[in-house]
Amino acid sequence: MQIRGAHVLVCGAGGFIGGHLVNKLYADGAASVRAVDIKPIDEWYQKNSSADNRVLDLKKIEASHEAVEGIDGVFQLAADMGGMGFIEHNKALCMLSVLTNTHMLLAAREAGVKGFFYSSSACVYNGDKQKDANLTPLKEEDAYPALPEDGYGWEKLFSERMCRHFREDFGLETRVARFHNVYGPQGTWTGGREKAPAAVSRKVLEAKHSGKHEIEIWGDGHQTRSFMYVDDCTQGVASIYESDILEPINLGSSEMVTINQLVDMAEEIAGVKLKRNYKLDAPKGVNGRNSDNTLIQKYLGWEPSIRLRDGMAKTMSWIEEQMLAGVAVK
Ligand code: NAD
Repeated sequence: MQIRGAHVLVCGAGGFIGGHLVNKLYADGAASVRAVDIKPIDEWYQKNSSADNRVLDLKKIEASHEAVEGIDGVFQLAADMGGMGFIEHNKALCMLSVLTNTHMLLAAREAGVKGFFYSSSACVYNGDKQKDANLTPLKEEDAYPALPEDGYGWEKLFSERMCRHFREDFGLETRVARFHNVYGPQGTWTGGREKAPAAVSRKVLEAKHSGKHEIEIWGDGHQTRSFMYVDDCTQGVASIYESDILEPINLGSSEMVTINQLVDMAEEIAGVKLKRNYKLDAPKGVNGRNSDNTLIQKYLGWEPSIRLRDGMAKTMSWIEEQMLAGVAVK
């Protein structure tokens, strides 16, 4: 499955990663890119004017058929999702993305597309293996026995299985990556769906500009995570799509930090030092999570490697521009 010369479809193209992926697919030589999202086009994070941009609700089978017409390769990123605050309080909404995944798989099969990429998540991993902040990084096999994040993680795990069986039973060439926290410019940074790097960036920058040198941190700050810069993510998506990797594979950074260390980094970039108030009853997710990259190294001889400090500097500079320009929630 080649991107060069192919007619490709990005589902969820109005979102954070989808918007970056459209640009990446053009850079990799796609013959055409169709970009689809449920949001009105003026709410898309990025809009590439070369693309065939369409507003469609892919939960509906007719829309899925329209989206795949004349397409060689599908990149299915559309999902109702957000950071921990969103997924802990919107489990049914998260699970309804199963309609999009089901209909896109059916439509792709019927249209005879050559390749189908699905964006799964580290939220599929067994919760019992993420209780300790000093955890061993998660290997692909740690998704079973299944005990994923309630709601969102169950939907992702189920859809991964569907991809597998559509390949085994119907010959649809599916590829699945489990994204670990992705961050970068052109993403959600306010409004309730933002994730830790964007939320921390915004809070630190707000404190810097307001002169109120305090920050609220969700949890005790000792929870550990790794964060992947979006350019590493789109590079990984393109490589995994073109690979022979049949099983779901981790796509994440293995540079692990505590949330306190992430705040240290953001303070240093912004040039401020803040008083920290820990909100212990806020949604904070699992205690520890990191990506084991043995398998991706084995298959691709590559892993996400953009340093968190470098990615955070670019992300904060973009958020600061948006903030100073008075850009509201997109
Ligand atoms: P995002 O919310 O910015 O983008 C998802 C897009 O899908 C949104 O623009 C949304 O409008 C669109 N969408 C939702 N329902 C739709 C429908 N019925 N029809 C058409 N479009 C629809 O999210 P993102 O961060 O860009 O994530 C992209 C994918 O990667 C998602 O599947 C997500 O679950 C997965 N993922 C992301 C992360 C991360 O850290 N960002 C981590 C793990 C997995």
